[in-house]
Amino acid sequence: MQRQNFLRLIISSTLLSISLMSFCFNSMAQTTSKIDSSRQVTQILHTYGLNPASPFISRIRETPASVVKMFTDAGMSPRNHELTAEERLTVEKAFAALPPLHQRILKEHLRSINFLDNMPNTALTSTVNGKDSYRLYDITVRAEILHQNVSDWLTEKERNCYKTQGSSLSISVEAGTLDAIVYVLMHEGTHVVDGALGLLPVNEPGRKLSESSTANPFISGVWSEPTLFAPPYRNTMLDSTRFRQGGKVLSINQAEAVYESLGKTPFASLYGTSSQHEDLAEYLTIYHFTQKLKLPFRVIIHNKEKEVFVYEPFKSKQGRSRIKCMKLFYAHSEHGFSADS
Ligand SMILES: [Zn+2]
Repeated sequence: MQRQNFLRLIISSTLLSISLMSFCFNSMAQTTSKIDSSRQVTQILHTYGLNPASPFISRIRETPASVVKMFTDAGMSPRNHELTAEERLTVEKAFAALPPLHQRILKEHLRSINFLDNMPNTALTSTVNGKDSYRLYDITVRAEILHQNVSDWLTEKERNCYKTQGSSLSISVEAGTLDAIVYVLMHEGTHVVDGALGLLPVNEPGRKLSESSTANPFISGVWSEPTLFAPPYRNTMLDSTRFRQGGKVLSINQAEAVYESLGKTPFASLYGTSSQHEDLAEYLTIYHFTQKLKLPFRVIIHNKEKEVFVYEPFKSKQGRSRIKCMKLFYAHSEHGFSADS
């Protein structure tokens, strides 16, 4: 696969993942007030063939044609992947490891999970029924990651941001040895929870998005628009990486400056800088890994064997500043973000 095509697709699929979710992230209260009656929900579940009582493992299906078309249109040839018994067990364990709110919301909103071989990016969450306020989702995952652990997979993803030719520097991510799918499912599952509960704001007629953003403690002062940083973070090193629109693959010699810059922000990872939705998915997943599972999350720059720089998101005051917002994902009852949660 040509690198240019690959990078273009990564960027377009990130954007597609956002646009498929239709920017319909209303405030929690509005979502609740607009939510279809239980009869309409029953009808939606029936129309799209989702039984909320069905085990997650029974929701492994072939990838929807619309998702496959997106890849083939970009010149890729993904193929449906039939899971082996061992792979199914890996997926089942990853679902079981999700926190309770994710389990509950995914039961009611995840129509299917699909696996593709030869998929360029890691995963994609897509909306099934964009016109209804009660949303269903499909998650599509690159099957190869079922054989990677989280550190190997995150290292590979981070290395795609830098050119290393002629340098003795290298980058790696240390995040323990759990299966990569545990991280990936938590990340994609957060997109489903975000979309289903309307956790992050969207453009609403007659109301500037910035007004909704100001009222949302997770993104206030961090994002002005879904993909536009708040002023303090604009035009910094962070705006130049390949995870940003218009960004590019940088020289590994710039990596230290990138993570130094990241360390002065509340983002949990470089990928979290791609959009406010990725920010939430990354922040929560890394919070869960480091603070709940007590696993490491260290982005390390090595010069040959020697560690020359380490980035650990929750070690800084800035990084920890939004931890209070994570409480809702572990609460017994659902509510939106609140400033004093
Ligand atoms: Zn994502």
